[in-house]
Amino acid sequence: RAFVVEEPSSKIFAFVSVDFGMGAHAVTRLALELLNTDTKTKGVFDYTNLCISGTHTHSSPAGFLGKVLFQITSLGFQKTSYETYAQAVYKAVAEAYATRSAATISSNRGLVEDANINRSPTAYLLNPAAERAKYPNNTDKEMVLLKFQDATTGAGIGMLNWYSVHGTSLNNTNKLVSGDNKGYASYLFEQAVNPAGTVTGEGKFVAAFAAANLGDVSPNINGTFCMDTGLPCDNLHSTCNGRNEMCTGRGPGKDMFDSARIIGTRQYKRAMELYTQATTIVDGTVDMRHTFVDFSKFSFPLPMNSGAGGTNGNVTTCPGAMGYAFAAGTTDGPGMFNFIQATNTTNPFWNAVSDLLSKPTKEQIACQHPKPILLNIGEVTKPYDWAESVVPLQLLRIGDFFIIAVPSEFTTMAGRRMRERVADAVTKAGLSKKPTVVLAGLSNMYGDYTATFEEYQEQRYEGASTIFGPHELEAFIFNAVRLVNDMASGKNPSDTLPAPDFDIKKMIDLLPKWDYDTVGIGKHYGDVTVQPQATVKRGQIVEATFRSANPRNNIRTGGTFLTVEKFDVSSGKW
Ligand code: ZN
Repeated sequence: RAFVVEEPSSKIFAFVSVDFGMGAHAVTRLALELLNTDTKTKGVFDYTNLCISGTHTHSSPAGFLGKVLFQITSLGFQKTSYETYAQAVYKAVAEAYATRSAATISSNRGLVEDANINRSPTAYLLNPAAERAKYPNNTDKEMVLLKFQDATTGAGIGMLNWYSVHGTSLNNTNKLVSGDNKGYASYLFEQAVNPAGTVTGEGKFVAAFAAANLGDVSPNINGTFCMDTGLPCDNLHSTCNGRNEMCTGRGPGKDMFDSARIIGTRQYKRAMELYTQATTIVDGTVDMRHTFVDFSKFSFPLPMNSGAGGTNGNVTTCPGAMGYAFAAGTTDGPGMFNFIQATNTTNPFWNAVSDLLSKPTKEQIACQHPKPILLNIGEVTKPYDWAESVVPLQLLRIGDFFIIAVPSEFTTMAGRRMRERVADAVTKAGLSKKPTVVLAGLSNMYGDYTATFEEYQEQRYEGASTIFGPHELEAFIFNAVRLVNDMASGKNPSDTLPAPDFDIKKMIDLLPKWDYDTVGIGKHYGDVTVQPQATVKRGQIVEATFRSANPRNNIRTGGTFLTVEKFDVSSGKW
């Protein structure tokens, strides 16, 4: 779902919200390559003005990230996922660009009270009491929304909002491709605005529910329970009798699909209210800045108002490392990496790569303290990099509206600090007297989680996955403030490292192959081998059997694997 915003005869950017797990550098690179080979969009988009943010659904096809750690569950890099996502982004941006017209943008904000919960509340409590006292909840309940209308007719063109909640209404037992709660909210919104019968993805009106600071935020609002006893889990460790696999989050529905529907519907309903009542006009300068920074060793002065209390000298970030709590997983999906304990597992990809993991150096252990290091991913480059080191940060502006796009899952308080400090810098630099700042999570690359310095001390899942060490958040904020100041001073482009490489030839893929399909001579794909019952009663299940193929041989982008049609008796048509 792409939104192209342009100030006439000036700057332009595209914000794309994708129903996938997270932004990925490999995908961003390829999408830019495609946009720059199309004569209609050639030279318009680069890293600076294209933002690709993942909704963080956990039910999207995997294998599109270029780093080893994120390829384990998909048995390596999956070219099909990677190419399909990049082509979809390219197509959506090209279409938005080609059909752009004079528009009015307005904004609104309001609370969605009953659609999220903090899944690491004990870590949140480590943040200073005075800071916590500024907020009524341990998650952000506010949805911030942009409304796009045709400037001449006033007709709605699109809606884009940011709200913090994980795409984990469907847990890791789900095997179906799904946009989870945010995808469902988009579906409802687009169905409501586009003409009846519009196929999803083909309507003119586009409604995106984008990811914000959802790092510690779960949609499973009924809390965590032990699967065996039905009693609440131990709060600090999220365990049942000391075992984490038995503790799982529960949504408000009767099953996980019902929960996805309920959490999606709550976001949709509030978004529709806010959309209908949006009146604050957003206009003025369109601008953007972007930087690539090496977070394996970024050295900077720590300000006095940071959680770590400030120092006279510099602090540094560390090469990426995962703490022990990473292996346990979260209450939204216990331990998908349980194979870590054994060297010989049923996962062939893990068997092929696990011996290459390095032991952390003394410096690394000290840098990551108090994190007990489970996977020293930042210092391994075999068979290729295990995690990101050079990460992007991006700032987009429409008048008083600022989007800070981060390649990470920020926790609630991490996101609040980032937004507050960016707003502060914007005001001080004279860019805007009353800025609105939103945080676009999981954008452009995937650099795991970002917890606050205080939350990091507890080393729950989010702290254990804050891979660049205790000062990661402050390093992001330091660079965000730099981008704000560059925007104010007119420095363009901002200082940056070159975009990291991605070498597809190096990628390993151990997924069993599926090249060949056949249905036999004289038969056709789609042939029905067992016809459904001729007549059925309401409530009865209709069954039919078809000759089919492996969906990987033709993923039918923009189409569908199955259409259900209804025969209309009066018109005699399907
Ligand atoms: Zn997550």
